[in-house]
Order: sequence, then structure tokens, then C-alpha cells
Amino acid sequence: MRATIFSIKAAQRLDSRGKPTVQVEITTSDGTFPAIVPSGASKGDYEAIELRDKDSKAFGGNGVLEAVRNVEEVIGPAIMSKAFDLAEGMKPIDDFMVKLDGTSDKSKLGANSILAVSMACARACAAAQSVPLYEFIAREIGSKGPGYTMPVPFFNVLNGGVHSGNGMAFQEFMIAPIAAQSVTEGIQWAAEVYQELKSLIVEKFGKSAIGIGDEGGFCPPISHPSEALDLLVESFRRSGHDSHFQVGIDPASSEFFKDDKYDLGFKTQETDMRTKSGMAELYNDLIERYPIVLLEDPFAQDDWDAWVSFNETCKIELVGDDLLATNIIRIDKAAEKKACNALLLKINQIGTISEALTAAKRAYELGWSVFVSHRSGESTDSFIADLTVGIGSGHLKSGAPCRGERVVKYNRLMDIEDILKAQNIECRYPGEQFRWAGKARDSRN
Ligand code: PEP
Ligand code: MG
Repeated sequence: MRATIFSIKAAQRLDSRGKPTVQVEITTSDGTFPAIVPSGASKGDYEAIELRDKDSKAFGGNGVLEAVRNVEEVIGPAIMSKAFDLAEGMKPIDDFMVKLDGTSDKSKLGANSILAVSMACARACAAAQSVPLYEFIAREIGSKGPGYTMPVPFFNVLNGGVHSGNGMAFQEFMIAPIAAQSVTEGIQWAAEVYQELKSLIVEKFGKSAIGIGDEGGFCPPISHPSEALDLLVESFRRSGHDSHFQVGIDPASSEFFKDDKYDLGFKTQETDMRTKSGMAELYNDLIERYPIVLLEDPFAQDDWDAWVSFNETCKIELVGDDLLATNIIRIDKAAEKKACNALLLKINQIGTISEALTAAKRAYELGWSVFVSHRSGESTDSFIADLTVGIGSGHLKSGAPCRGERVVKYNRLMDIEDILKAQNIECRYPGEQFRWAGKARDSRN
């Protein structure tokens, strides 16, 4: 029997920053499938466009009622008129929406409208094929198994940049439990380090310093990256997890790139201008002194020369976020220039799940790794947990082990691990090999 869509409904709801976002519910013969989309703060210039109402009287001009109307009055009826067979997968539906929008950046109908429909469709298609979402995604990307690779979670436990109010220019300091034996154990260890970090911050800066930023990490009054890294190393030691963790940093440097230089003082009264080579020296010094294995957006989205030069000698994972914007044209350009060696995969940067899967596939073909990511403005939708397992990316970031919209992804990962183990399906935790998980997946194909 053909599985088709009965209705597509949309509504304006709130994200984790209290800003409006788009929710969609798709009803089929198998049930009702919801999705709710995230939104970034340190957005790149090459991302697909999310539509915001210009009505300053509602939500300060951040409403998404036009995007909601686009789903209910344009996208929904157009999809329904085609009567797609959901059992055949989601690509025909995503391709149809891309054509219906007709722009290169989804600015006509809005990436927020289109993505919400795409995510809900993925769930509806999975149900039509009677498989869990992670298995449906594995099928869509063409993974042949056997089994699944779970991700090493990278927890952003110290928030800076535009995600917090302290003086720290760098946006994210992430801890990765590489010595754990499973995702469940890794999440436990990270939660233990997080509590120890909280105690350490109280000791050093007092109780008023334990407020948290947009992604649930602490934002104590520090400004130099080595102060943040010292806090992490001390919390590993005090919680009995010395050598169990490695570290990732996302400076999100497009946010403080001005006049061809980087201003590490951009959040304070004093400027602290660094040249590109000064930034490269700073990164290399930090990499030598701390257990750093991943560096994301160390240079701005159009500072190609700095990326290329740094990548020539870079031994760790060098991830393009704003640089690539989950966009295959940017990925190919970066590959040609040899600018980085990993893709940050953010579904709302491109606007459909199928295009995100194409981007991941291209990254794997290039021999890169893929790092699945949430946004700083999130929802309680756990979609990316299934996504990272389905594509076998081997690592993901979803903020601190704190705040509902962050832990819902980590909790879903533990659910998936339990389900796979209960069914005796192979379920690998890649640990230190997180970068090469995608490669291992490909070599089995
Ligand atoms: C990031 O820069 O990787 C990030 C998650 O932040 P945002 O969602 O604000 O772009
Ligand atoms: Mg980033």
C-alpha cells in the first residue's frame, strides 16, 4: 500500500533563546510526525536564509509567521498534490521543495519552513519503511553496515563568543570522552567533569560566576583561551578523568574578524588585534600545550589564505563551519584549495536533509571527517542524534550536558545505544578514532 501524506500543519513556537521558530506536523497513515527547527547566533554569510517577519511589534521583528504561512499555504498543498509515496524515501520530496523555492539560498520560501517539512518527512518516510529514523538515514546515505558507529560527543562546557556575556572571544571549549567504552559511559563522564568544573569555578570566582551561556556551558570571567583550557584540565584531574578526555575548540572567528585582523578583545573595552600569523601561532601554541584534537573555524569564512596556510602543517581535525556552510559548492572550493580536512554538518545551513546527506557524502569521498552539529538556538527535537548515528560520523556536538534542548540529543543517543545492544546489532564507540569513523563506514560499502 502507498504511504502518502494526509496533512501538513505548521505553527510558530519558541526556541531555547525564547525566539520564535517553525514547527511542522505531518500526518500520514502511520501517524503524526513532528519537527522543530533550530537557529544560529554566529551565523555564516553563506547559510541558507531563515525567514523572519519584519514586524517590529512582534518578537522584535523575529516572528516566523510568514514562514509558517509558506508551509501551510504553499509547500504543504504543493507536496500533497504530488501524492509522493513515502516508502520510496525523501529525496524526491526534498528535490521538489528546492525547485518550488527556486532560489540558491532558499530565500523565497525560507530555509526554516523547508527544513521543518524535510525533517518531519524524514520521520514519516522512516515510519513508512517501518524502521527507526537512524536506520532510514543510513539507508538514504547508502550505508551498508554492518551495525552502527556511535558518536563521541563533544560537550561545550565553557561558552564564550556571541553565546555568552563574559570577555572570552573564543566561542566554544568542548570536552570529548575518548577513553570511554560507550556513548553512555562517555556522557556519564562528561556530566561528572561538568559538575567538577562548576565547583572549581565557584572556588575561583565565587557563586555568581556559575551562570551558563546559550549552549549550557559556564561563562566565568576569563578571557584568554589558556585560562579556559587550564580549567578543563584541572576538572579532568579532580573528577578522576585525567587522560580520559581530549578537547575541541571553536573560536567562531568570523565574529571577530575586522580589517583583515582578529580582535580577541571584541567583547571588552580594549581591542586586542592579532594578525593571521599571530592567530596561527596562538593555535599552534595551544595545540602543543593542551590535548586539543579538533579546531573549528580558526579563521574567518573568507580568509582562505589563512586556512590554506594553516592546513599545510595541521595535524589535528580542522573543521569548516562558516567556511563551508554545509554547502557542496563551498566544500568543493575548500577541497580544491586544501583549506580544511573536516565538514561541520548543520542541517539548517543548507535547508533540507537530503542536501545535508549529499554534503556529508561528498566530505567522506574527499577523505574528510564529518562533525554533526546543533545550533546555539535549539529546540527539544532530537533529530541530529539519529542523523549522526545514521551517517556514522563518529562525533557530534550538542552543547553541555545541561539544558533540555542539549540533553535531549544525548539522551536519545543513549536510547539508540540501548536499542541496538538489546537487538544484538553491532554498535561501535570509536573513541580516539572518531575522525575516521566515516572512512570505516565507507570501506565496508
Ligand atoms: C557554531 O558556531 O558552531 C555554533 C553551533 O553556533 P551557532 O549556532 O550560533 O552558529
Ligand atoms: Mg562553529
